[in-house]
Amino acid sequence: MKVVDYINSSDKTIFSFEIIPPLKGKGIEDICEGIDPLMEFQPPFINVTYHREEYDYKKMGNGLLKKVSVRKRPGTVGICAALMNRYKVDAIPHIICGGFTKEETESALIDLKFLGVDNILALRGDSMKNEDAFIPTEGGNKYALNLIQQIDEMNNGQYLYEETKNSPSNFCIGTAGYPEKHFEAMNLSSDMKNLKKKVDAGAEFIVTQLFYDNQKFFEFVDKCRAMGITVPIIPGLKPITTMRHLSFIPKFFHVNFPEEFSSELEKCKTNEAVKEVGIEWSIKQCKELIEKNVPVIHFYTMGKGKAVKSIAKEIF
Ligand SMILES: Cc1cc2nc3c(=O)[nH]c(=O)nc-3n(C[C@H](O)[C@H](O)[C@H](O)COP(=O)(O)OP(=O)(O)OC[C@H]3O[C@@H](n4cnc5c(N)ncnc54)[C@H](O)[C@@H]3O)c2cc1C
Repeated sequence: MKVVDYINSSDKTIFSFEIIPPLKGKGIEDICEGIDPLMEFQPPFINVTYHREEYDYKKMGNGLLKKVSVRKRPGTVGICAALMNRYKVDAIPHIICGGFTKEETESALIDLKFLGVDNILALRGDSMKNEDAFIPTEGGNKYALNLIQQIDEMNNGQYLYEETKNSPSNFCIGTAGYPEKHFEAMNLSSDMKNLKKKVDAGAEFIVTQLFYDNQKFFEFVDKCRAMGITVPIIPGLKPITTMRHLSFIPKFFHVNFPEEFSSELEKCKTNEAVKEVGIEWSIKQCKELIEKNVPVIHFYTMGKGKAVKSIAKEIF
């Protein structure tokens, strides 16, 4: 079922979360360990992130280093199939532009169509670790907008290089939105114009980057509505659970902690203390978001479901 249909047929805020594929070589049980505790909150769909290849340096017998390309977290499509089979939920694969030609993207979409996947979160993907900026793959999509256009064309039966229309797919396309602006954008308003283009091209729902300041999210929703973006906007939350998160999250995700939250975090001396404050803050965020009738609350679990379970227990 499509995300928009779940939203339209629910009279309360839906619980959902995303998982990341485990490191190469791990089994499905490693994934389920993180998911099982969250199933009591009845998520109708689970997102599965996509991770492109990385460059690594492998030591050779002669002592020299060889640059190798490794996909450290493969398996997004297979994991989606496993989740649909095991939990009878919809799985939402993230599909990215980076690392794929349009031809390869089309093949992946055809696999997903055969699997009965109804939703896709269409993203550009970040730059590779050794690159300063995102470099589009030759023959691939440059922006998420172009990927959305490709999926939309397939939804209309138009495949690459085909003269005639074929069996159309019926994917519900999601896209990413940034209440605190995407870090490469000149300003929030230019970023939002690009978001509007993605929606006009066929994106039917928006999932936001994680944030800790609800006010920023509410302002973002208001701005979207004012510029004619009418699709559901799903807030993304991630509880802070370790001392490391205090610098890693702002640096990696380009988000700010509100003053009230950062001053509580500054008092913490241990991971346990940070976790307690982080969970409390998320609970507070959720309560306020639900009061404002958000359609879904989407948690970034990053493979660790325990903190999300503590929050969901209070909320759902
Ligand atoms: C909910 C969510 C899930 C994510 N999941 C993953 C994942 O699974 N795997 C992964 O690798 N990454 C993931 N990411 C990270 C994401 O790939 C990065 O944030 C990436 O840098 C931007 O992706 P995007 O789809 O927002 O890109 P885009 O929408 O293409 O935007 C990228 C930048 O280009 C600008 N821009 C957009 N369109 C145009 C245009 N037509 N002309 C000029 N400028 C334009 C935008 O303003 C923005 O600054 C996720 C992010 C979010 C919010």
